Amino acid sequence: MASRLTEETRLARDLLLSEPDLTAGADALADRLGRDLGLRVTIIDASGKVLGDTDLDGEALLSVENHADRPEVIEAMRAGTGRAVRYSRTLTENMLYVASRIDPDDPSRGIVRLAVPLTDVKKAQEEIRGPILVAALLSVVLAAGIGWVVARGPARRLEAMARAASDFAGGRTAVRAEAGGDDEVAVLARSLNRMADELQERLVLLERERSQLRTVLEGMVEGVVLTDPTGRILLANDAFRRIFNAQLPVEGRRPLETARVPALQEAIESALEADEPVTREIALGGAQDKVIQASLASIRESGETVGAVAVFHDVSELKRLERVRREFVANVSHELRTPLTAIKGYAETLRDGGLRDPETAAEFVRVIHRHAERLRALIEDLLDLAAVEQGEARIDLAPVALRDVATQAEAVARPAAAGKRHTLTLDVPGDLPRVLADRDRLGQVLINLLDNAVKFTPEGGRIEVSARPSSGRVVVSVKDNGVGIPPEDLGRIFERFYRVGRSRDRREGGTGLGLAIAKHLTQAMGGTIEVESSTGSGTTFRVSLPAA
Ligand code: ADP
Repeated sequence: MASRLTEETRLARDLLLSEPDLTAGADALADRLGRDLGLRVTIIDASGKVLGDTDLDGEALLSVENHADRPEVIEAMRAGTGRAVRYSRTLTENMLYVASRIDPDDPSRGIVRLAVPLTDVKKAQEEIRGPILVAALLSVVLAAGIGWVVARGPARRLEAMARAASDFAGGRTAVRAEAGGDDEVAVLARSLNRMADELQERLVLLERERSQLRTVLEGMVEGVVLTDPTGRILLANDAFRRIFNAQLPVEGRRPLETARVPALQEAIESALEADEPVTREIALGGAQDKVIQASLASIRESGETVGAVAVFHDVSELKRLERVRREFVANVSHELRTPLTAIKGYAETLRDGGLRDPETAAEFVRVIHRHAERLRALIEDLLDLAAVEQGEARIDLAPVALRDVATQAEAVARPAAAGKRHTLTLDVPGDLPRVLADRDRLGQVLINLLDNAVKFTPEGGRIEVSARPSSGRVVVSVKDNGVGIPPEDLGRIFERFYRVGRSRDRREGGTGLGLAIAKHLTQAMGGTIEVESSTGSGTTFRVSLPAA
């Protein structure tokens, strides 16, 4: 509006400029111009005197105040054009004024001023607001439309696919790319999704295989270790940790750091260097005295060592059994050789003339018989022991009255006890609960214990067989006041061939197998046997059996 006014001011100015004498016809000119333009036009001379005005005539025009102080006039005089909004007392209305020199180059020719009520300006503004609003709305809609088209565009979809692909790479295989439509991007998205499906399937399979491997490894008795080419542990199972008492975490560390067994470190290093599998026997000191058999091999991939795998087997028990077996064979040979050597010696003496002296001959034959008897006893005990140990001995469990079995055993031992003037007493109540046992085998155990008591008690000793019930079981005791067993031997007397002070006991004619057989028989009947003794004050054996 203001610029239109400026434009019209310029027109009015041009018109006025062509007028030769402004002063005379100024008011008529102002009236005409005002009518033509539909505005108020005022013509003012350089001194500020109003020469003509559309809205003022005659008297009113003459008495109108000087306009030199009007801001738009001052501005126009100074700069060529001026503008102001002001309340016009003349028209009692807010007006927009635009003033201009009549001659742009010469302020002395006066000023032409156009004015329009602001209500007109507002009206014009309101008229224009509608179209502006529509235009603004249209552009917003257009922008949104363009945005949508761009958003639906291939660039955005490719970007989404890139995001999905990086998700797959990060293991989030549940994500899928948008695969709608049938353009190239959609085809790409579909193959990406197919790839993701396959990836997911493989991951599931891989995970399953891993957990199977874990289960197998953890279920193994053997320790298993996998290392990288530098010997650091990648994977180890529970058995490995147990065997070597390894410190956690095992993974990522060298064997020596976790297990503190130099031989283990050395074995793994050798395996990494060697072309062939390596085997080692690693002795672990300490209380258990463990022996570990290790089988190791390097893992090669296209000629390069990528790691080593090692399997560890605890062979301590095997070693122990092997040692026991070796000792047993040595013991048996030794035990058999002694009587055999004696028999052979005496038989040779008889053959080489000994028979000629009937008295010596009779003595020699007795010695030969004694040794042959010992041989027989030994062999019988050995066979018995073997049968019990291998579970081949027939054990018929049935309710047995202890009093009967004890009385019979005592009767067998009585002559020998009487020979040494021992006092042999029996304290087995008749109303005891019956025990679940094999009658003959139980008799054999008691006879053996009584036999020992008689043997290892000096003449005139006291031997007592007693029995008492004890929480669902019955305990039979064979007690003597004999030589006793030194504490250091107590733990071993149930071992085969173990005797306290070999020479002492061999004189008594024992085989060293009696207690081993007694222990095995008792256990086969579901019972236990224990010993309590101290040197010099006698020995007590207790056999506990389940009540029937
Ligand atoms: P043996 O046939 O030599 O008696 P055992 O196995 O019956 O063999 O006994 C093993 C060893 O235990 C005996 O040699 C003896 O040293 C010791 N022993 C067994 N019973 C007694 C006992 N009542 N008093 C002292 N020592 C005993």
